[in-house]
Amino acid sequence: MNPAGKPGKTGSLMPVETALARLLDMAEAAPIVEREHLPLAQLEGRVLAVDLVSTLDLPPWPNSAMDGYALNLSDWTGQPLPVSQKVFAGQAPAPLQPGTCARIFTGAPVPAGADCVEMQENSEVQADGRVRFLEPLVAGQNIRPQGQETTAGELILTAGTRLGPIEQGLAASLGCAGLDVVRKVRVAVVSTGDELIEPGQPLGPGQIYNSNRVLLCSWLQRMGCEVIDAGILPDDLDATRVRLGQLQDVDLILSTGGVSVGEADFLGVALREEGELALWKLAIKPGKPLTFGHFRGVPVIGLPGNPASTLVTFALLARPYILRRQGVQDVTPLKFRVPARFDWPQAGNRREYLRGRLDQGGAIIYRNQSSGVLRSAAWAEGLVEVMEGRTLSKGDEVSFIPLSELLA
Ligand code: AMP
Ligand code: MG
Repeated sequence: MNPAGKPGKTGSLMPVETALARLLDMAEAAPIVEREHLPLAQLEGRVLAVDLVSTLDLPPWPNSAMDGYALNLSDWTGQPLPVSQKVFAGQAPAPLQPGTCARIFTGAPVPAGADCVEMQENSEVQADGRVRFLEPLVAGQNIRPQGQETTAGELILTAGTRLGPIEQGLAASLGCAGLDVVRKVRVAVVSTGDELIEPGQPLGPGQIYNSNRVLLCSWLQRMGCEVIDAGILPDDLDATRVRLGQLQDVDLILSTGGVSVGEADFLGVALREEGELALWKLAIKPGKPLTFGHFRGVPVIGLPGNPASTLVTFALLARPYILRRQGVQDVTPLKFRVPARFDWPQAGNRREYLRGRLDQGGAIIYRNQSSGVLRSAAWAEGLVEVMEGRTLSKGDEVSFIPLSELLA
């Protein structure tokens, strides 16, 4: 790949890592800096703007991990102890009377003076109500000490963390009613192509239904973006200029199609005229042509139009770019090694992301891996990564990236 970002010749394909690193650099150069404070219930999918530091010890006081009896070990000589109080969760106990034990339930504060809880299963209540302990006792047993999980002042979540149900629960446990998050990224989705019509209309000659639009709009919504659905853009330079010009208040224009060097690929022309354009030929399959540029200052990512190419390049390149614009550091999806349960005899010069599934601990792939076939991805549970220049025989290891990682 030449540094000017001009289309490379065959054999000079840009590795996926290089493209990703460049996109992430550009994302870092244009961070979303505005913040908003949102209540807990609205944090799903949002990105934490400032570190979350605990103002509490958790638990706030020592509490019982069991239903049973709290006592001071020095009172236990083998003689049954009388029960001096009963403590339920939510109550504040009196200090333990010397020479007695307290009936206690899970989550209840341990009375001052008690240093051990014995579970009821190992305790025997006598006819007179006194309690005998059947097993040896150890100081501290079955007590969750104050601050065991967290102490006040501890860093709990760093800025840039994506928030979901677990982080919402964690913030709630610390008493936060809301958090400061990065404002949503505003992404305009544009589908290019004279052949496209929207579902619900009769299909005319030469037409196909626009599938990328809804696929990307829903995916972006899941990611916590504000989506501007900019519809279908005809293959026409003036229309392209006008429509892109109407999208001046967004953080990103995400288009599909029209990024190869075909005669009807006007996106590149518009960017070259009114901004800047890098046309990359990536060592990725499905995929390959990818545009990054600016139109009158607004960043534009142009993904290839074939639906499986759109999906793979969005997942592996545009998605991390969008997350990084919000300050998310961890944009690398989890992947793991599994044995291939298929043969791959023909080495390619591009890295392949095959739509696959896990079957008996290994990866199998959909029968038709054509870039136009979205059904392959609907069938799949993940992307099977086959490196450039690699052939595979059954049993060789490949990397598997679960789609659930990418769709979040
Ligand atoms: P292009 O990159 O514009 O040459 O498009 C590559 C292929 O993807 C062509 O077969 C297009 O018809 C198809 N395609 C482009 N955009 C879409 C879309 N939004 N939905 C479905 N197919 C598309
Ligand atoms: Mg097209």
